[in-house]
Amino acid sequence: MAELQTALDENAWWFILSEGKLVALDKGDFIPFGNVNELPFPEGATANKRLLGQYKDQPCYLVEVEGSLDVGLGGYVTLRSFLGRIDDLLFDMAGRAFQIALFYKTHQFCGQCGQKMQPINWEVAMKCYHCQHRTYPRVSPCIIVAIRKNKQILLALHNRHLKENYPVYTTLAGFTEAGETLEACVAREVFEEVGIKVKNIRYVSSQPWPFPHSLMMGFIADYDSGEIKVDPHELIEANWYHANDLPVIPRHGTIARKLIEKTLKRCR
Ligand SMILES: [Zn+2]
Repeated sequence: MAELQTALDENAWWFILSEGKLVALDKGDFIPFGNVNELPFPEGATANKRLLGQYKDQPCYLVEVEGSLDVGLGGYVTLRSFLGRIDDLLFDMAGRAFQIALFYKTHQFCGQCGQKMQPINWEVAMKCYHCQHRTYPRVSPCIIVAIRKNKQILLALHNRHLKENYPVYTTLAGFTEAGETLEACVAREVFEEVGIKVKNIRYVSSQPWPFPHSLMMGFIADYDSGEIKVDPHELIEANWYHANDLPVIPRHGTIARKLIEKTLKRCR
């Protein structure tokens, strides 16, 4: 991710982060795109840009600013507010912007010897030139699984969702442990959280989940045995639901929603 010397008339996507939020234009609906000279940013605001990658063959830049930038008709929005409202790949790029910014912020000093680290100019990494330790952005693998029992799906109300004032009934999820396969992680998490055993564990797809740096790996599975017994540290409740009698489920754009819909199709 070298600093690029780019033509002044270059069109690009601008991911401008300030105090944990993202600049969006036109009443917060759009990620800024275009020639930086024609966008409503103060002069020099994008001088410290980092190349994130490309979206639709155009470069994407991360710019971190302190305080509030005057962005005309634009405003500051949370990353979460874009979920399901913009193209998935553009959302993933916005998530990458947050993760890369977090990486540089949290890896200024060597975890091995404590000396100051320096960015490497040809890849996204920090290196300690004292002890040669090198580090990369953290990605935390996490499984998420929808479980079917005959014509019903298991949905749970999570403690953390209630705390976040987001009371949805959703799939089960959990972080992969060191030395664990994804399939073993699915079986373990399900048993720990609801006390049942599952079978026919199948991978579906994945979704980067930049809150702050998870990679959700989505599975579906079938009920095998046991009675629901929730872990009170994680869940308020969990129940089996028919497709025609569902509680509030996660919004579109989330892998949880995708797994739930896929499972409900199998419940008909
Ligand atoms: Zn070191």
